[in-house]
Amino acid sequence: MSPLSNLAVRDVETLIHPYTNLAQHRETGPLVLERGQGIRVYDSNGKDYIEGLAGLWCTSLGYGNEELVEAAAAQMRKLSFTHIFGGKSHDPAIELAEKLKEIAPAEISKVFFTSSGSEANDTQVKLVWYYNNALGRPEKKKIIARQRGYHGVTIASASLTGLPANHGDFDLPIKNIMHTDCPHPYRGMEAGESEEDFSRRLAQNLEEMILREGPETVAAFIAEPVMGAGGVIIPPKGYFPAIQEVLRKYDVLMIDDEVICGFGRLGTMFGAQTLDIRPDTVSVAKALSSAYQPIGAVMVNEAVYQAMVEESRKLGTFGHGYTYSGHPVAAAVAIKTLEIYERENIVGQVAAKAPHFARRIQGFADHPLVGDARALGLIGALELVANKETKAGFTKPGVAAKLASLCEAEGLILRAIFGETLAICPPLIITEAEIDELADRLGRALDQCEAWVAAEGLR
Ligand code: PMP
Repeated sequence: MSPLSNLAVRDVETLIHPYTNLAQHRETGPLVLERGQGIRVYDSNGKDYIEGLAGLWCTSLGYGNEELVEAAAAQMRKLSFTHIFGGKSHDPAIELAEKLKEIAPAEISKVFFTSSGSEANDTQVKLVWYYNNALGRPEKKKIIARQRGYHGVTIASASLTGLPANHGDFDLPIKNIMHTDCPHPYRGMEAGESEEDFSRRLAQNLEEMILREGPETVAAFIAEPVMGAGGVIIPPKGYFPAIQEVLRKYDVLMIDDEVICGFGRLGTMFGAQTLDIRPDTVSVAKALSSAYQPIGAVMVNEAVYQAMVEESRKLGTFGHGYTYSGHPVAAAVAIKTLEIYERENIVGQVAAKAPHFARRIQGFADHPLVGDARALGLIGALELVANKETKAGFTKPGVAAKLASLCEAEGLILRAIFGETLAICPPLIITEAEIDELADRLGRALDQCEAWVAAEGLR
């Protein structure tokens, strides 16, 4: 192993890295990135990488977008900060909320701003509880999320997340949060079962859970349209309509977590439109500003809003809000981002490029390492298996992580996620030629990974 550079040594001596094997990081050190342009980023040695995960599923308009830089700078010059507590307001927060209401995938009444997806989903949990207290049914508090769902890392949103690493040793989940099945066709469908039958079975399991818990205690269900960090899981046909029939029957709110799918990822403005979701409330973040500023939001329908107004009449104040809720610079950048999406028809472009992306990703289905190659819009994944027939895993974990590191050497940044899966989620501005370049780099890394798996005897 080469000795760590000066910058790498300083990193190891100072930083706790999120979502990192901290012990291993002490040995390997960081990849230090320095600048970006378009879909590419460059490290401190000048080597270029295609950012195949758009940062963390967020840099939709890529890097070096001068309009976004200018929007931030102009707002900083004009009014760098004012809060929106206690009746204060400002132009960018109002304009952004209006815009979000206009494009939302449901009848949205009001918008609450946060700085991240975790804060948005944490707010969702608090609003569900507040809402049911307001309606005089304090026992209706349970929220059903899904195994392998990802909703963030604060205490409540990590509890919604259905992944072992987010619960183990953190003493989570908190009470009143439970997890139903993951709608993963590749792993979950039984022999001879159609996608529609699988969806109906999952909806029936959900109904049984609600009945077991007592419908009067179940308040909400939360889901990502396509699961991201839990494995890029595209639900089977008819999944959300079947699930929502159950939710309606028992007066359970539908919370749509659009933190990854929102703003074009699936080829529609929101994932809800591709997958037939009828949400009561919606969480957004990430691509809302193309990650040029940290900003998220919760959008709620009129019924939820009215209950909140009534409750705050009793309590005197709505006791929730972040210093940076509706931060004017973040809001100004988000307004500009949405303007660019519209002007450049980014969503239409994603829909047009999606078949090419799907062809290139699904083209890896024949590779000996790949059990399932899936794609929708501009998000995809390769799920790696030791045996394509039995879908059995490798004798040791870490094959997808190895593949990600081989990609990195080939000049492609991707991310190993739950279930020996490699996620692919490029900036939405990627061209078809760049998709080919991405896939070519990925193909070379896959072949090297196959040789490594054989040499290590991992089957
Ligand atoms: N929801 C989803 C669907 C996400 O993918 C993420 C982040 N990956 C979050 C919520 C949490 O967002 P943040 O990291 O901004 O807190």
